[in-house]
Amino acid sequence: MSHSTSSPIAIIGAGMAGLSCGKALRQAGHTVHVFDKSRGPSGRMSTRQAEDAQGHWQCDHGAQYFTARDLAFRAEVARWQQAGVAALWDARLRSFDGRDWTTPDTPLERFVGTPRMTSPCGWLAQRLVDGPGVAALTRWQTTVQRLERQADGWALTSTEHGTHAERYGAVLLAVPAPQAVPLMSLVAPEGAAVAASERMRGSWAVMVRCEAPVALDFDGAFVNTGPLRWVARDSSKPGRTGPETWLLHASPQWSEAHIECEADEVMPVLLQAFADLGGPQPAQVQATAHRWRYADTEPALTLGCWWDAGSRLGMCGDWLNGGKVEGAWLSGRDLAGRLALA
Ligand SMILES: Cc1cc2nc3c(=O)[nH]c(=O)nc-3n(C[C@H](O)[C@H](O)[C@H](O)COP(=O)(O)OP(=O)(O)OC[C@H]3O[C@@H](n4cnc5c(N)ncnc54)[C@H](O)[C@@H]3O)c2cc1C
Repeated sequence: MSHSTSSPIAIIGAGMAGLSCGKALRQAGHTVHVFDKSRGPSGRMSTRQAEDAQGHWQCDHGAQYFTARDLAFRAEVARWQQAGVAALWDARLRSFDGRDWTTPDTPLERFVGTPRMTSPCGWLAQRLVDGPGVAALTRWQTTVQRLERQADGWALTSTEHGTHAERYGAVLLAVPAPQAVPLMSLVAPEGAAVAASERMRGSWAVMVRCEAPVALDFDGAFVNTGPLRWVARDSSKPGRTGPETWLLHASPQWSEAHIECEADEVMPVLLQAFADLGGPQPAQVQATAHRWRYADTEPALTLGCWWDAGSRLGMCGDWLNGGKVEGAWLSGRDLAGRLALA
């Protein structure tokens, strides 16, 4: 197979890891094509927007906030802040252990996308297309289902478009581990084994719209009892407009035990648990549930990324680098660096 460095590089997955990888490769002069099965970028940094009787509402129902410890990631977050797509969330936080409420001792800064959690990825994807240098290509609603090694490079087959005409000098998977396994298994059994070693946990999320401000003295709470793990006043995040919205995340244990249930079975339980914490009564709110089949990996790997120079296949994502948004960004950048050395 020819490995011409002038051939474009395919990135499958336009979450934080894939976009960070694309950005670094583009800066290094590569032509990049990014594919995602969704209608746009962001992956699990996700925001639901809809209309109901109260009008337009929005709520982040995947990642809630992100922290930035690494210096390079802090610099990147500063660029997002300057572009107006991220800001500090100065949230009033509490913890509840089933008996007492305490204030968590966490001096960390918490950032959110503005005006919604999808904004940093939206900005990165746009910069891939219209930033300086060779424009990248982004293709949405393209579910890559097969990789095939051919004499002139890697061929991709997607559910929506069949086998694509372009041949690629490298293919980089930036998808959750369980979704990397079927793509890797026929072409890179070692990569498939790394991905198969990771089990990702599910999570139920409930987005709650309230007619009046909820009289709780916090914006986010870590809940260490019952079915909930985290509740947050989404509308307290910077740049939000519209009605008061709250986001409830069920605990991993409860979510896993109820992952095959229907939304209308889980919602009453989680809304009642919120009411028990002092939230509004279930009958007073509008609510929508979302099931995340692959929310997080516990524990995530700490490999940074995975790269095979022989086949020119790679993988990046939060699950390879400690989990979380910061880990995903660093993993994507790490993989771009490995490719540059190859
Ligand atoms: C409920 C929940 C709460 C969270 N809370 C936090 C938090 O508070 N703080 C924090 O830092 N992190 C949090 N996270 C984790 C954070 O969202 C992730 O670490 C990060 O967004 C992962 O980015 P990624 O690029 O690795 O993967 P993803 O965001 O999952 O991106 C993968 C992309 O690949 C696409 N894809 C998959 N398969 C294919 C295919 N075959 N073809 C084409 N495209 C494909 C998907 O559509 C997706 O866009 C949370 C996640 C969830 C779900």
